[in-house]
Amino acid sequence: MKKLGFGMMRLPKSDKDDETSIIQEEVDKMADLFLEKGFTYFDTAYVYHDGKSEGAFKKAVADKHPHEDYQIADKLPIFAIKKAEEMEPIFQEELERLGVDYIDYFLIHNVSGFSDHALKNTDPFKFGVEKKAEGKVKHVGFSSHADAKYIEDVIKQHPDMDFIQLQINYLDWENDAIQSKECYEVACKYNLPVIVMEPLKGGFLANVPKEAEKLMRDYNGQSPVEWAFRFLISLDNVMMVLSGASSYEQLKENIEIFEDIKPLNDEELEILRKVREIINANIAIDCTGCNYCLSSCPQNILIPKLFNMYNEDMIQNPGPTEFTAVGNAYVNYAKEAKHGLASDCIDCQACIPKCPQHINIPEELVKVKDHFETPLYGFNQQEE
Ligand code: SF4
Ligand code: SF4
Repeated sequence: MKKLGFGMMRLPKSDKDDETSIIQEEVDKMADLFLEKGFTYFDTAYVYHDGKSEGAFKKAVADKHPHEDYQIADKLPIFAIKKAEEMEPIFQEELERLGVDYIDYFLIHNVSGFSDHALKNTDPFKFGVEKKAEGKVKHVGFSSHADAKYIEDVIKQHPDMDFIQLQINYLDWENDAIQSKECYEVACKYNLPVIVMEPLKGGFLANVPKEAEKLMRDYNGQSPVEWAFRFLISLDNVMMVLSGASSYEQLKENIEIFEDIKPLNDEELEILRKVREIINANIAIDCTGCNYCLSSCPQNILIPKLFNMYNEDMIQNPGPTEFTAVGNAYVNYAKEAKHGLASDCIDCQACIPKCPQHINIPEELVKVKDHFETPLYGFNQQEE
């Protein structure tokens, strides 16, 4: 199986504010090209495009081709499930929306602190394994944006999973909030093949700072997108890389890259390290993560961790306009009652003299609070 998957979460739309306004003719053309070039893996989810992505797949692929010619991945939206009885009807609806009799890769969608409430009341892992036994699912796995420890705990509790889907790209590889490298290593430790999501960090790695792009182009003429994909192909345990292409042209570019893709050599890995440094130099709060400020805080706020998350999200999602993996990491952090949130800062200023970077920490924490602690991330909502 070729390693590029067609991620159907950012399909072309006629109205940028309307997720359901998918341009079906363009999706048809994209799917035709994809299959014609020998690629076969499609990825969708119950919630993508407000429930319309699965139907777009049906029209573009399932209605036109025998199932033996492709693989479809779909996901159980545990964050939207309150009772165990809701899983079967959703699964049946998924089969119907997709226009298939079985799902090749079935994922428990976004297993993390965000979905804890659902995991308490239901057992979606068992449900997936049962569907596999019935032949309705070929492989069962889960996707997650949680940290490495959380993921390892889930794998230990559910050793019958066949694969895992993780956010990996060269910028998140050594990022403390996302922990791509550590999560990948956990997957390797338990022999779980990895499907990569967000290989371009939501498109951000296609538009890196000019200086960083120059380094890459001067070395071999290849685009930042090609470098980002080649980094992932260099990881032995990656079985699939999902491209969330939102136009025919983007998908075509990705296909051309994957038709003859090669891992990065040592010299190229070194260049990518410099690229990472340049990108990181463009970030919002100049915190080096030295931790000197930590012990001074009476509110036990993990200041560098929060600054790191803020920097990450400001690169990708300055609004913020969408629910990102970093936002999810902040939500997970908020659930750990032992640490203070940005909003718990009482402006005592005890931390300021400790900071070698002379950062006005309480002032910056207000920005962190304004960015993450919003209704978008489930904060400031009225209690029921
Ligand atoms: S100003 Fe805020 S972050 Fe700094 S020590 Fe006081 S409570 Fe903690
Ligand atoms: S002391 Fe300053 S640079 Fe060091 S972790 Fe705290 S905020 Fe960041």
